Amino acid sequence: MSQPTPEVYEQGKGMDAHNQVMREIRSRKEASYDPHEPTRVWLDEDNTPDGVKQSLTIILNTGGCRWARAGGCTMCGYVAESVDGGSVSHEALMNQIDVCLEHERENGDEPAQLIKIYTSGSFLDEREVGAKTRRAIADTFADRERIVVESLPDFVDREKIGEFTQHGLDTDVAIGLETATDRVRHDCVNKYFDFADFEDACAEAALADEDADGEADAGIKAYLLMKPPFLTESEAAADMISSIERCAAVEGCHTVSMNPCNVQRYTMVDELYFNDGYRPPWLWSVAHVLEETADVDAIVVSDPVGHGSDRGPHNCQECDDLVQKAIKDFDLRQDPAVFEQVSCECERTWEVVMERERSFNQPLTR
Ligand code: SF4
Ligand SMILES: [Zn+2]
Repeated sequence: MSQPTPEVYEQGKGMDAHNQVMREIRSRKEASYDPHEPTRVWLDEDNTPDGVKQSLTIILNTGGCRWARAGGCTMCGYVAESVDGGSVSHEALMNQIDVCLEHERENGDEPAQLIKIYTSGSFLDEREVGAKTRRAIADTFADRERIVVESLPDFVDREKIGEFTQHGLDTDVAIGLETATDRVRHDCVNKYFDFADFEDACAEAALADEDADGEADAGIKAYLLMKPPFLTESEAAADMISSIERCAAVEGCHTVSMNPCNVQRYTMVDELYFNDGYRPPWLWSVAHVLEETADVDAIVVSDPVGHGSDRGPHNCQECDDLVQKAIKDFDLRQDPAVFEQVSCECERTWEVVMERERSFNQPLTR
């Protein structure tokens, strides 16, 4: 009998199968956009290694995530847009930045000291944001204190970070690592890179930090995903605890943002949810993970999006706002005592779920 080759074996399985399903789901929605407008922009406050700062968050429209076009991550509702040529020009990107500065002038009292730029892809990928645009953006925000840019680990290098730190701007690269466990990242999230790539990116940031010679800091902010599909509540919590510990132990990684999964439209998670096969994490799990990891050597924060709704992280509805508030307090103060002040009857249900939910009977509750 002939042996199947590994390539044939992979067809329709593993990542190949995930990508096929995600391509089909995503293709149900067509999106188009104006390349001169950012996807979103808003003002907020954030905890940084130098304390709490006013922040301006910008989601740039850069022609979109290549990985989403291939199929992409199982929880990400990012819709692969159809931009002609798949890229956005320097002028259009700078117009987007102008729109954001205008938004800041109209809505903020003074310029935000923290700038965060996300692209639903990689800001440091030159096919998305060219070197000229990247440098122009660094110049634009040279008078601020700190900047965060999002990138996949592959594109992080000390020279690119140096373009920001040379202005005295503390610079963080946000990496959507999702989990430190390669198996969970590959099989549940359908993201292709390895923890070792993340470690390499952290090493580049550490070198950039040395290059900056005390004039500015450079580091990595890891984004983790709590409860990707196919994990039970307790597996998801355990995976987050070990992921936070592993990230915090890597030199160059100073902040971990652990974010509970929410059910976005046109995703595999949405299909599972619709067929009663997925429940977003309990807010008790988020609190539990933050409590368990409060002593790691990194800032750990969480921003449960859509909390209290069926499609977002939730408890019993009665206590969702209270627990969410405790999580936000923890983000700013890093003190696990904030969770001692919240309790609710549903905590008992959550404990049962943590104890009894297995992959074959999940989700045990809604
Ligand atoms: S999570 Fe990021 S890498 Fe994954 S499909 Fe969405 S935008 Fe692309
Ligand atoms: Zn409750």
